[in-house]
Amino acid sequence: MINAGVVTVSYIIATILFILALGGLSNQETARRGNWYGIIGMTIALLATVLGVVTQHYTILLVALLTGGSVGLLLARRVQMTQMPELVAILHSLVGLAAVAVGYANFMDPSVQFTGVELTIHDIETYLGILIGAVTFSGSVIAFGKLSGRIGGKPMLLPARHWLNLGLLIGAIWFGREFVVQSAAGAGMTPLIIMTVIALLFGIHMVMAIGGADMPVVVSMLNSYSGWAASATGFMLSNDLLIVTGALVGSSGAILSYIMCRAMNRKFLNVIAGGFGTGGGTSAAGGDEEGEIVPIDAAETAALLNDAREIMIIPGYGMAVAQAQHIVYELTSTLRAKGVNVRFGIHPVAGRMPGHMNVLLAEAKVPYDIVFEMDEINDDFPDVDVSIVIGANDIVNPSALEVPDSPIAGMPVLECWKGKVTIVLKRSMATGYAGVQNPLFFKENTRMLFGDAKDSLDEVFRSL
Ligand code: NDP
Repeated sequence: MINAGVVTVSYIIATILFILALGGLSNQETARRGNWYGIIGMTIALLATVLGVVTQHYTILLVALLTGGSVGLLLARRVQMTQMPELVAILHSLVGLAAVAVGYANFMDPSVQFTGVELTIHDIETYLGILIGAVTFSGSVIAFGKLSGRIGGKPMLLPARHWLNLGLLIGAIWFGREFVVQSAAGAGMTPLIIMTVIALLFGIHMVMAIGGADMPVVVSMLNSYSGWAASATGFMLSNDLLIVTGALVGSSGAILSYIMCRAMNRKFLNVIAGGFGTGGGTSAAGGDEEGEIVPIDAAETAALLNDAREIMIIPGYGMAVAQAQHIVYELTSTLRAKGVNVRFGIHPVAGRMPGHMNVLLAEAKVPYDIVFEMDEINDDFPDVDVSIVIGANDIVNPSALEVPDSPIAGMPVLECWKGKVTIVLKRSMATGYAGVQNPLFFKENTRMLFGDAKDSLDEVFRSL
């Protein structure tokens, strides 16, 4: 319906909007605008493709668009904020599945007629697209299982797992060669299917071997893979916009993985090789000898806050579960009105997805200028009168620094115990995501305020 020139211009505009979207999303104040750029870019891209690239089978396309659009809309409306990471993981799996489907369809398409070098290049594109797609698909399904608690957080460490991975890799390369050779002779389906099975197994094995605490890196890595899978699909379909968009997602996911690794003091290859964050290590139990805990009630907490001049709030996954961000905002405003310096310390892997806490605090309208990254405020704790740990656990665990064989050893944490008093809000003595006991709870200057974080803070607010 529209000519090729209009499609090309629309694609260029969409690409620019996607780049602006990424730029916008890098900062909380511009994130909303960035989101809009993305929405407009995607609308233009969809319209240009539907009206300019597709030439037949409009009914199938319409049915697919309506079904996909409605399911997406329903999911987005229903999903709780705490389920967002699982939703993202399962959406990554769909990108992988789409790449596999497009790869097979492309291979079987009788209208695709290449010969010689062109055929080889096309075959390699197809093979790589299906390979990356299948790894992304099965890996993301397992990640979804782990994030939603359907699969345990402990890593599955098979004996000789590195050899197994190496064997799978060599198998994938071998069958790739077979595929290219056989495809030139008009066959090739068998090696393609064998490789798909290998890739699916590799994806499962890779994510199963990763311990709870390292899941952030895996989520961002799968995000990156889904981008490369989309990019490979773009090559198969000769669609420039898909190539560029996939590459944007792929590279930004890779950068995010790098940032996550640095935040957790991990080496990327070690994470992929698996086995960190086991929760099954010797130190994981180890809480018995820590000593007594000191409980505190809401009125006493309010009294401590009343006397404080410097307060640091450390939110974690439990704040998301309790949906306590709004009462946190009320409390913050009240304390700030009394002249107290209230700041927020955000750990890079707090919650269950990158930027989880920032999103919640922004939703509750907490001013950005009192929200700090861990690196910015970790040296300030000696001057803090009261630290309030709201549903956080792993990110304030001193054993990461003190116990060399701890599953989270080496991960930088918020060192709140160096302040005068730390109040920890949680419901029980249960461990966090990594399954590691937390010596912070037994420290002399720590007070435990048990209960749902929102209920506890409501009560503290009333007492205040
Ligand atoms: P944790 O999972 O370590 O701890 C959360 C704590 O919140 C629990 O100890 C729990 O204790 C408490 N809690 C749960 N619900 C409530 C409630 N309603 N009210 C009060 N407390 C509650 O979370 P952190 O944020 O400290 O650390 C994040 C962990 O998740 C890290 O291990 C990180 O590696 C991992 N992770 C992070 C991802 C990311 O991208 N950010 C992705 C995947 C994993 P109790 O049950 O006793 O209440």
